[in-house]
Amino acid sequence: MYTPIMPNPAVPVRINLYSDTQTKPTRAMRETMLDAEVGDEQRGMDPTIDALCARVAALFGKEAAMFLPSGTMCNEIAILTHCRPGDEILAHETAHIITAEGGAPGALAGARVLPLAGAKGMFSPDTLRAALTDRSRYAAPQTLMVAEQTANLGGGTIWPLATLNEVADIAHAAGMATHMDGARLMNAVVASGISAADYAAAFDTVWLDFTKGLGAPLGAVLAGSRSLIDRAWLWKQRIGGALRQGGVCAAACLYALDHHVARLADDHTNAKRLAEGLREIEGLAVQAPETNLVYLDVTNDKRTPGDWAASLLGQGIMVSVMSSKRLRLCTHLDISAADIDETIAAFRAVN
Ligand SMILES: *Cc1c(COP(=O)(O)O)cnc(C)c1O
Repeated sequence: MYTPIMPNPAVPVRINLYSDTQTKPTRAMRETMLDAEVGDEQRGMDPTIDALCARVAALFGKEAAMFLPSGTMCNEIAILTHCRPGDEILAHETAHIITAEGGAPGALAGARVLPLAGAKGMFSPDTLRAALTDRSRYAAPQTLMVAEQTANLGGGTIWPLATLNEVADIAHAAGMATHMDGARLMNAVVASGISAADYAAAFDTVWLDFTKGLGAPLGAVLAGSRSLIDRAWLWKQRIGGALRQGGVCAAACLYALDHHVARLADDHTNAKRLAEGLREIEGLAVQAPETNLVYLDVTNDKRTPGDWAASLLGQGIMVSVMSSKRLRLCTHLDISAADIDETIAAFRAVN
């Protein structure tokens, strides 16, 4: 039996730091959705989806883009497009495609993922080089390299542009395609000042999630060359990801691009403030946040992460238990500076 992730808490949740996926669409976003012009996407007749795809393709400097319900579907359709059964994908050992997609690369594409080690969710050019196998009858064909920007389980960390370009060059030289899981790419863009197009330049496919810090109820956009996106459409159709009047949701994503990108800087400021406040609390080691994710390691046996989370939940604050050692707190659209102060006080009350 699968355990429910989030049973209803006894005390209402006032401050939800569980994930940036917990954002609720704002009133203004919902109002934009009301007025969206829509049509049948499968027939190429939804002007709002077309506008969103054109906008994201331009943002990434790619020829074409495709609207999908979720980021997971972007990753898996990209994998289905780049790989054949028996192929090997190279990705960091904490990558979302390994840890959080139900084994989909194997289940759907018949591809296996070779997990690469490295600090903070990133692997080095040397690690990638060392993982390349000789092309022979014995080895699985290595056809895809995946990098996550920002690296979620690495701590919301930002790959330096030079490293991304270097690993992409190594992959291309070895005959592989490159795919960027850009679920939180705009967090990296806002934090670093480097453009989405620059980050995406060396990657054949790249996508952006609208349901994380950007605050839309659903939607993600996968971008790449015209020929790759044309091929990806076959998989979109096959797995039931081809939509009808999806422009209602694409309108929320367009709204998010206009109104919720620059403000990601507030989430980063709040994450830093939170990390600083929690650093003084005994029994917790705080990883310095680079974007909107704050990871805490429990350093003594006094309390497990589950104990911390339960006590906080009793105070109306929800955090995420990542492992038997780690907690994650995530800042977003619905978290204010005052919420941060209250959260720090609640952690002190546990102590
Ligand atoms: C959330 C996330 C995904 C999946 O996106 P969904 O829209 O939840 O399917 C993929 N990769 C990373 C790094 C994520 O954080």
